[in-house]
Amino acid sequence: MTPRLVLAGLGHSHLFILEAAIQGRLPECDLIVCTGEPYHVYSGMVPGWLGGRYEADEVFLPVEPLVRAAGATWRQAHVTGLDPVARTVTLADGSTEPYDLCSVAVGSIPTGLDLPGARDHAVPLKPLDNIRQIVLRLEALAASGGGNVVVVGGGVAGVEIAFGVAARLKLLNAHARVSVSIIGREPAPAMDRGGRVIRRVQKALDRNGITYMPNTEVVAITPSSVETAAGALAADLVIWATGPAAPPWLAHTGLATDDRGFLLVDDHLRSVGMPDVLAAGDCATLDSHRGTDKAGVYAVRMGPRLVELIQHALGGAPLPKPYTPQRNWLALLNTGDGRAIASRNGFALEGEWAMKWKDKIDREFMGRFKKVVSR
Ligand SMILES: Cc1cc2nc3c(=O)[nH]c(=O)nc-3n(C[C@H](O)[C@H](O)[C@H](O)COP(=O)(O)OP(=O)(O)OC[C@H]3O[C@@H](n4cnc5c(N)ncnc54)[C@H](O)[C@@H]3O)c2cc1C
Repeated sequence: MTPRLVLAGLGHSHLFILEAAIQGRLPECDLIVCTGEPYHVYSGMVPGWLGGRYEADEVFLPVEPLVRAAGATWRQAHVTGLDPVARTVTLADGSTEPYDLCSVAVGSIPTGLDLPGARDHAVPLKPLDNIRQIVLRLEALAASGGGNVVVVGGGVAGVEIAFGVAARLKLLNAHARVSVSIIGREPAPAMDRGGRVIRRVQKALDRNGITYMPNTEVVAITPSSVETAAGALAADLVIWATGPAAPPWLAHTGLATDDRGFLLVDDHLRSVGMPDVLAAGDCATLDSHRGTDKAGVYAVRMGPRLVELIQHALGGAPLPKPYTPQRNWLALLNTGDGRAIASRNGFALEGEWAMKWKDKIDREFMGRFKKVVSR
């Protein structure tokens, strides 16, 4: 019988599996892709989309042509469960898909959404196409005369989103009437990137008129404010850009997880103790490198390794060499004003050249997968 390879989610790593299928590099299998969303949204270009640098179609990879070119079957529903004993995944419509080999790349969700009012009154960054809603809300604010935008989360993603908001407000000619603030628990923005990066980020925030509120714990969101331990802040739009949390259903699969609920995988990206389940990207934690950041850079690097493991598991190819994550990663932070901050290992440089560099890397990534479809 032809083995069934089921892909749960279409995160960055799974794009490489579809590319391999299109190029005839996958062993013979029935390939089934389970995702409810018609597009893969490329996170690296999302702040630029928000800021008006890119159009939506530059940031989106449509699922249907990719799946069709790969000769795969698309089940258009999100995965809600996985039974590693019965070897099935369950979809949101209640149906199940049996598998011989399953790979999971469903990303992460923002932390803290269970705070009072957060789900009702804040716009979370995931799914990433919530950016459409944010743009509409900014347009309405601009038309209404003014207001306050608050980004909750002072990490790299929150900061980059705030730059995107400021850039969009400039396009709408509303930057003088709409304030942009970031609320962070940490004493400084982009804290985990190190001292020099923090100083550059703070300067860029000042240049773009964005306020960072340090050491601030959000306790609730109302329709018109962010409630913090220190008092209330008026807010017409709250964007939820906190750090990554595990999708809750992963914890109910019986698969090994880390203490935050992410799937624990070995150095071949196989679920610890359940080698016919693979996982990659934000939803996976390497057992041997549990402190590795959740970043798109790793999700992308894991893609080709998944392909090699599938060639091994279904095609008899030799076991690939173990995957070791790079210790530091290059972050290119779009400041929304034509510049970017390049940082790695605590060092930072900034300029228009860095934005051009980021643009080239991002366009090449998207171009790679658009090209395989159009061939
Ligand atoms: C604004 C922003 C900017 C960022 N910029 C950078 C950057 O410049 N560099 C960097 O390295 N990192 C960046 N990150 C972090 C990066 O986005 C994540 O680390 C990366 O997206 C993780 O990739 P992934 O493939 O694991 O998941 P995702 O890209 O989130 O993909 C997961 C996919 O699975 C789908 N899915 C989710 N749940 C299910 C389900 N139950 N069933 C089926 N499908 C499901 C989702 O719809 C999505 O298509 C940024 C994050 C944000 C929010």
